[in-house]
Amino acid sequence: MSRHHRIAAIPGDGIGKEVMPEALRTLEAAQRRFGFRLDVTPIAWASCDYHAQHGQMMPDDWKAQLQGQDAILFGAVGWPATVPDHVSLWGSLLKFRREFDQYINLRPVRLFEGVPCPLAGRKAGDIDYVVVRENTEGEYTNLGGVMYPGTEREIVIQETVMSRFGADRVLRYAYELARSRPRRHLTVATKSNGIAISMPWWDGRADAVGADFPEVTVDKQHIDILSARFVMQPGRFDVVVASNLFGDILSDLGPATTGTIGLAPSANLNPERRFPSLFEPVHGSAPDIYGRNIANPVAMVWSAALMLDFLGEREAHDAIVRAIEQVLREGPHTPDLGGQATTTSLGEALAQRVAG
Ligand code: ATP
Ligand code: MG
Repeated sequence: MSRHHRIAAIPGDGIGKEVMPEALRTLEAAQRRFGFRLDVTPIAWASCDYHAQHGQMMPDDWKAQLQGQDAILFGAVGWPATVPDHVSLWGSLLKFRREFDQYINLRPVRLFEGVPCPLAGRKAGDIDYVVVRENTEGEYTNLGGVMYPGTEREIVIQETVMSRFGADRVLRYAYELARSRPRRHLTVATKSNGIAISMPWWDGRADAVGADFPEVTVDKQHIDILSARFVMQPGRFDVVVASNLFGDILSDLGPATTGTIGLAPSANLNPERRFPSLFEPVHGSAPDIYGRNIANPVAMVWSAALMLDFLGEREAHDAIVRAIEQVLREGPHTPDLGGQATTTSLGEALAQRVAG
C-alpha cells in the first residue's frame, strides 16, 4: 500500500474551524515520526460561510473535486442563526454519505482514565467497544404515506427497506472487524420478537454471513435489553452491529456513557474505496462555545487517527490513541473535562506526544 495519501480537510462551521487545525497539527507530527506523506487540500466550502456568499453549501462540481481524494477529514457543519440545520446538513454531509456510498458508520466507544464516567463505579477499560451502523437503508426511507387524512379512519404507513446486498455488506464488515479484535465477539442488534418480518430476516442474514466466521462468537440481543446493557453491563460488548435506526440510537447512547461528547469520533466508510470515506467528530458545530478556544479537540484528533488506520497507517493511529490516553490522564484538560485549558494547548500537548 502506498504511503502517500491525498486528503481533503473541511473544517465546516463553528468549532469545526477550531478543532481542525489541531487535527492537522497532530497529523504533521505523525508524518514526521512515521514517514508517510499526506497531501492536504483545505476546503472552505461545505460550510454556512460559503452558503452566505453563494446561496448553497457546496459548488456544483463538489463531487469531482473530492472524488480523487483518499479520505475526507470533516469538522462540523451547521450555523442555525444563518442557515436552517436541515439545509446545511442535507446540502453537505448527507450528500457525501449518499453519493460516496459510505454505508458503514463506525463509532468506537471507550472509557478513558481521567475522564469522569456518568455510570457509577466504571473505570477505564470497562467500556471498550465499537458500534457499526448500517448507513444507507433500513428504517430511514420516504416510502409510505397517510391514508384517509383528517378523518377518523386516518392510517399512516412507513416502510422499512433492507436488501440482501445492503445487509450482508454491513454484517460482513462487522464480522471482519470482530475477527480482528482480541475478543472476537459480535453482538447483533435485533427486535425479531416484535418486528416480525424484517428483523427475523436480518437475524437470518447475520447467521448466513456468520457461517464464514467460525472464530467469531455471536449473540443476538433485542434492542431494548441491548440498550439497557450499554448502561448496566457495558463490559459485555466488543463489536455491535445494527440497522440504520437502531444503530443511530446506539451510537449516541454509547458515547454518552463515556463522559463528554468532546471525545467521540466517527468514520463513514466506503470500505471498497470506490469513493472517499469521511472521518468526523460526533459533536456538532457548538455555536454556544465557538470563538472562545475552549472546544475539546480530542474527538477531531481521534477521528483523524481513525482515518490513518483506514489509510493503512496503523502505527500512527496507535501513537495518536496513546497520546490521547496520556493527555486525558495527565492534562491539560479543556472545560468539558473539568479543566481550564484551551483547544490549542490541548492540541499542542497531543502533537508533542505523537512526535515522541
Ligand atoms: P448536531 O450537530 O448533531 O445538531 P448539536 O448542534 O445539537 O449537534 P453540538 O454542536 O454537538 O450539538 O453541541 C452540543 C453541546 O455539546 C453544546 O453545549 C456544545 O457546547 C457541547 N460540545 C460539543 N462539542 C464539544 C467539544 N468538542 N468540546 C466541548 N463541548 C462540546
Ligand atoms: Mg448542530
